[in-house]
Amino acid sequence: MALYEAVIGLEVHAQLRTRSKLFCSCSTAFGAAPNTNVCEVCSGMPGVLPVPNARAVEYAARMGMAVNCTVNPVSVFARKNYFYPDLPKGYQISQFETPICEHGHLDITVNGQTRRVGITRIHMEDDAGKNIHSAGDNASYVDLNRSGVPLIEIVSEPDMRSAEEAVAYLKALHAIVVYLGVCDGNMEEGSFRCDANVSIRPKGQQEFGTRAELKNLNSFRNVQRAIEYEIARQQDVLEDGDAVVQETRLYDAVKNVTVSMRGKEEAHDYRYFPDPDLMPVRIAEDDLARWRADLPELPQARRARFLEQHGLSDQDADVLTADKALADFFEAATAACGQPKKVANLMQGALLRELNQRAVAVDAIAMRPEALGELVRIVEAGLISAKIANDIFGELVETGAMPEAFVKERGLVQISDTSAIETAVDEAIAENPAEVEAYKGGKTKLISFFMGQIMRKTKGKANPALVTELLQKKLG
Ligand code: ADP
Ligand code: MG
Ligand code: ZN
Repeated sequence: MALYEAVIGLEVHAQLRTRSKLFCSCSTAFGAAPNTNVCEVCSGMPGVLPVPNARAVEYAARMGMAVNCTVNPVSVFARKNYFYPDLPKGYQISQFETPICEHGHLDITVNGQTRRVGITRIHMEDDAGKNIHSAGDNASYVDLNRSGVPLIEIVSEPDMRSAEEAVAYLKALHAIVVYLGVCDGNMEEGSFRCDANVSIRPKGQQEFGTRAELKNLNSFRNVQRAIEYEIARQQDVLEDGDAVVQETRLYDAVKNVTVSMRGKEEAHDYRYFPDPDLMPVRIAEDDLARWRADLPELPQARRARFLEQHGLSDQDADVLTADKALADFFEAATAACGQPKKVANLMQGALLRELNQRAVAVDAIAMRPEALGELVRIVEAGLISAKIANDIFGELVETGAMPEAFVKERGLVQISDTSAIETAVDEAIAENPAEVEAYKGGKTKLISFFMGQIMRKTKGKANPALVTELLQKKLG
């Protein structure tokens, strides 16, 4: 049995976060009633002229800069011709021979190994509408709200060698578009989606194998599972002595399989040609210079800074910088208390737990980063125990209350008053003579038994360090 190596290239579509469509002034808002964001241009009426959206050009160029591409000062829109009911013009406006960006790369690290993934090109194009098949009334409908929405397609070189690498690359791209603010990154709404080209070859062979293109991958997890399935499937095909055929395959997430959608024979001939209604896109040199100058700090740079400036572990830095909102929250909370490591721990524990439970992003909760910083500060100051902080965390997330006022109002402030604790210690000792004897006889582990008794008496509010100190004095 030969050993095989996978070869993977991704085509990623990201919807640009502009208010209006690529060639008309219709709104790009998601979720509007069908066919309400539609005009003569995006519904393909004859005799209309498209006008390019300058903001979309800017966003596409910024993305190119962020992934080390050359940005072409002149690029050309081309018609990609095909027939489908959701495409009223009969062609998609895309870029073919001269895209806006080319020759970039992105470095990813998987299991401590860094790999450079080439980015062949980034081009602009308009999205198609959406067909809705309604089983109930046995009819199909077309919603053109999405028709004409601006997209960039980011095409990679076939440089990835495993499903993990493909997902790491996709996550890195996702973080970059969100950091740049050029795409909202919402995968469920289809603002960020990808097709995966997968082939395998015997290890050591230079030449690529025949690829299948996988579609319908709408989450990171599905990308991972679909590629893994496809690699195994192609391996079975080759081991049976058959040949992999070039085709487009659809991923079925419920069954976790890929199924053939169309073969090479049915592949479209798109008859690309420059769109005669659109002038070449020209970008002025000073615009390019300005966009380059105000590129924000990108995920990899921020990760490096978190390691350096805040002394975080690799794992903390990975989790906290993958999501821009989480990274912003971390920095604001740290600014409020000056304890980066403690903030990171609380975010990775209690905060992520609460976000997962609610299935929301960090910018959708009432708790402000200053509140999390204050919580860290009052635990450090001994005002409340870490346990109480954890117990009240859900309520703080829910209400947005400031922790210090909250614990004072609830009477949760830790007892650090020696005489109050002493009373509880004395009681616990008096009530448990047998345990006292055993302790004195050498069973020093019983200290945690006494701690439990005292915590019960004080409703968890006794300062544990003081309790330990008093117990050792009185028992020892
Ligand atoms: P198409 O336009 O038909 O999809 P492209 O040449 O633009 O074809 O390639 C699309 C993607 O397929 C690119 O991301 C590229 O890296 C990838 N790719 C090309 N050849 C292979 C291969 N043999 N195995 C895996 N991926 C490949
Ligand atoms: Mg393709
Ligand atoms: Zn329109």
